[in-house]
Amino acid sequence: MTEKRPIHVIGGGLAGSEAAWQIASAGVPVVIHEMRPERMTDAHKTGAFAELVCSNSFRSDDWETSAIGLLHEEMRRAHSLILGAADRHKLPAGGALAVDRDAFADEVTERLRAHPLVGVERGEIAGLPPAEWDSVIVATGPLTSPALGAAVQTLTGEDDLAFFDAVAPVVHRETIDMSIAWLQSRYDKAGPAGTGADYLNCPLTKAEYESFVAALLSGEKTSFKEWETSTPYFDGCLPIEVMAERGPETLRFGPMKPVGLSDPHKGGARPYAVVQLRQDNALGSLWNMVGFQTKLKHAEQARIFRMIPGLEQAEFARLGGLHRNTFLNSPKLLDQTLRLRAEPRLRFAGQITGVEGYVESAAIGLLAGKLAAAERLGVACAPPPVTTALGALLGHITGGHILVDDAEARARSFQPMNINYGLLPPAPALDRGQSGKRLKGKDKTRAKRRAISLRALDDLEAWLGHASAPSAAAE
Ligand SMILES: Cc1cc2nc3c(=O)[nH]c(=O)nc-3n(C[C@H](O)[C@H](O)[C@H](O)COP(=O)(O)OP(=O)(O)OC[C@H]3O[C@@H](n4cnc5c(N)ncnc54)[C@H](O)[C@@H]3O)c2cc1C
Repeated sequence: MTEKRPIHVIGGGLAGSEAAWQIASAGVPVVIHEMRPERMTDAHKTGAFAELVCSNSFRSDDWETSAIGLLHEEMRRAHSLILGAADRHKLPAGGALAVDRDAFADEVTERLRAHPLVGVERGEIAGLPPAEWDSVIVATGPLTSPALGAAVQTLTGEDDLAFFDAVAPVVHRETIDMSIAWLQSRYDKAGPAGTGADYLNCPLTKAEYESFVAALLSGEKTSFKEWETSTPYFDGCLPIEVMAERGPETLRFGPMKPVGLSDPHKGGARPYAVVQLRQDNALGSLWNMVGFQTKLKHAEQARIFRMIPGLEQAEFARLGGLHRNTFLNSPKLLDQTLRLRAEPRLRFAGQITGVEGYVESAAIGLLAGKLAAAERLGVACAPPPVTTALGALLGHITGGHILVDDAEARARSFQPMNINYGLLPPAPALDRGQSGKRLKGKDKTRAKRRAISLRALDDLEAWLGHASAPSAAAE
């Protein structure tokens, strides 16, 4: 039998470490190329693998009613290095999984270093990987070094690799009050993929608009980090509150313009101003607030955006933000197994694929590692079902998100996302509690989430059991 060629993983962060572990665990040699400590990023401080650059929390650990907790549980069951190390170095943090960051990163580093199938090469990969590397996972994260970023851009084109994210809030559709909002595209235009009723519109009167603008102006904001302000890429995408600062009417002539819209709840009258939401995922469960990228603090966003008529009870799947980031327009560029369509020897993993967060980045590393190892071994490996958190996250990147047709909106359409229940299809839930009483409000939401989580774990077990079936292409 010939010796297996190694898979190369560029980046020893959350995703790269997990990918390398999955590859080595499958019996395939792997080389991790990490530029630290030789060359640091603006956020990392050590040479350790899987360094946590900010908070030490992996968020809620409750798999029954929290989507991130469900992702933890799925990763544990898939023998994740990152989750295992987190569990062994956890700190008291209520319902959250928080870790001792140094002990956590040291364990990840040590376990990889000690694995006989893992090689480590320190140094920056400052361009496209050499042609003889036939299977590569690029997991270089939000702070990918500029030389590699520029090289990747030669493959993706300028519009499809972003150097900042401009995230508008995303709302769970079922929490929008349709006795106030309505579906209509401006001038009822259908466009290439629409029906003429593609946007959800929330109308504001003059008084409501004025109070809303005042709240935006006085709301508490987060500031750019010093090194972020020197990134020239923010120009094209102003935060909503910065637009509001330019004059009381600016938003009414910008993202809140009411033209071409008539409110059916008010006899077809044109509203004074409007907030539009556009469908964000193929399931139709998530809608994003068009043009509402913002640096407002998260609590302020929830408070201020619930002032918008129709969104009083809104639950947010994602809140807005604007950060230095590097990420691909993955739904267009990557295939279902995370390979770059234009150059399939390159797979991508982690935050660069358009997920957000430590755990989500590691989760995509886990999948990329499994998929790359299966390919090397010549065994078939279907992606996990969309009913699992792992599958739903992969779906967001490779197909679940709806790409927008018009050019201006398209540039901002695909944005990084944390795992949330809106990415998973609904599951039938009991509508009565143990006492036989009909469930309402929070109890009903918990029952729905629990049903999705239980189904996810069942389906994950089946996928883990059947993920690999022998195929003809063995090496
Ligand atoms: C400032 C900041 C704060 C964040 N805070 C949080 C938070 O509190 N909680 C949270 O959940 N998420 C946070 N994130 C988001 C995200 O979850 C983390 O960035 C996460 O580490 C992403 O994982 P990753 O593996 O994709 O990238 P990383 O963990 O950043 O790993 C990428 C690795 O690639 C290396 N690398 C880059 N370019 C090259 C190259 N050319 N050659 C070789 N190696 C290279 C880097 O040195 C790094 O080790 C934050 C992001 C940033 C930028």
